[in-house]
Amino acid sequence: MKTRHAYLLLLGIIIGALAGILTGWFLPDISQKISWVGQFFLNALKMLIIPLIIAAVISGIGTMGDLRRLGRLGSMTLVYYFTTTSVAVMIGLVVVNLIQPGAGMSLDNAEVPAHILEKQGTGIADIVLSLISPNLIAAAADMQLLPLIVFSILFGLALCTLGDRGRHVFMFFDGVNEAMMTLVNWVMYLAPIGIFSLIASRLGQAGGGDAFFAEIQAVGWHVVTVLTGLGLHFIFLMGLLMLLTGRGMQYLAGLSRALFTAFGTASSTATLPLTMETVRAQNVDDKAVKFVLPLGSTVNMDGTALYEAAAVLFIAQAYGLDLSFAQQCLVFITATLAAIGAAGIPEAGLVTMVIVLSAVGLPLDGIALLLSVDWFLDRFRTTVNVWGDSVGAAILDKHVIKKGA
Ligand code: ASP
Repeated sequence: MKTRHAYLLLLGIIIGALAGILTGWFLPDISQKISWVGQFFLNALKMLIIPLIIAAVISGIGTMGDLRRLGRLGSMTLVYYFTTTSVAVMIGLVVVNLIQPGAGMSLDNAEVPAHILEKQGTGIADIVLSLISPNLIAAAADMQLLPLIVFSILFGLALCTLGDRGRHVFMFFDGVNEAMMTLVNWVMYLAPIGIFSLIASRLGQAGGGDAFFAEIQAVGWHVVTVLTGLGLHFIFLMGLLMLLTGRGMQYLAGLSRALFTAFGTASSTATLPLTMETVRAQNVDDKAVKFVLPLGSTVNMDGTALYEAAAVLFIAQAYGLDLSFAQQCLVFITATLAAIGAAGIPEAGLVTMVIVLSAVGLPLDGIALLLSVDWFLDRFRTTVNVWGDSVGAAILDKHVIKKGA
């Protein structure tokens, strides 16, 4: 049943892409006519996220038992996030230096949208501040997951100190979590048609096949560079998974529904409910599912980090600037931070890229070069983001949770 569902999702992507490409000739206006179906699916997934995250994190802490184990899982999770994100940025820097996609490009004067320019001046302090929200309701309304996760962790820790009374509350949240996971399965019935609509309407909106291929061609080497980097990182994570857990293709196949949904929605946050469900179905302990995945969906974005580094160097090359080793080190640090700061929503990486560009003194106008194809590359980097979290859950399950049990 799950395999059949995965095939249906893949079919949704393929038929959606064909319909979107052919839209200019055979199906004019498809984007306006069917986009509501995709939006309906996306809304249904998003509806689950806030209650799911709060219930999962709190009940996850409840099942952890003692706080020393939680501390160990927390610190090892951060080590995993940091190591794999660093490798991703490094791969991004290497491929862009080798392929030199920006050499010989000419910059046009397309305008950079205002919401991107607003990020100017964002620094480490802003990222730290984003951990806590003075108003949890507002954070939930804005889908800012990080402050909700931080609150849920603190709340769970406080419950641990209450003995029996705390256990009752944990049981309540465990029930909420189970109910949310059931809802995820129900919503996923909509996925094949939802993903079809999202892809077809986005391609239709981009102008169908002719316009799409022209856009890709204009920055063709940039697209090749990013896809090569993302492909290499995907394989690196697969190698890490095999080496450290003995799992392999079967795990990848088990996760395919989450990965196809990530590709279809371009949002790791919207995909999170399904990522949790598919990783759990692969016999990864609930503690890893409830802790590593929600946090990872907002903090651990390997694909985004790789993209930020590769795109900024591409812009520098297009301006005819050679970034020194020291400047590339700065790109390394800021691309990591920008990926941590990016939300798991479509094209968030493009917005936080302003942090990296400003750090090395590049003009923000360079972003205009990337605008036309960002929505396309976003789908690939989101898939890598979700894959990175899922591999992390399996590794931490084997080396921290099962070892400590
Ligand atoms: N869309 C990506 C995600 O949801 C973030 C990005 O724009 O890179 O993971």
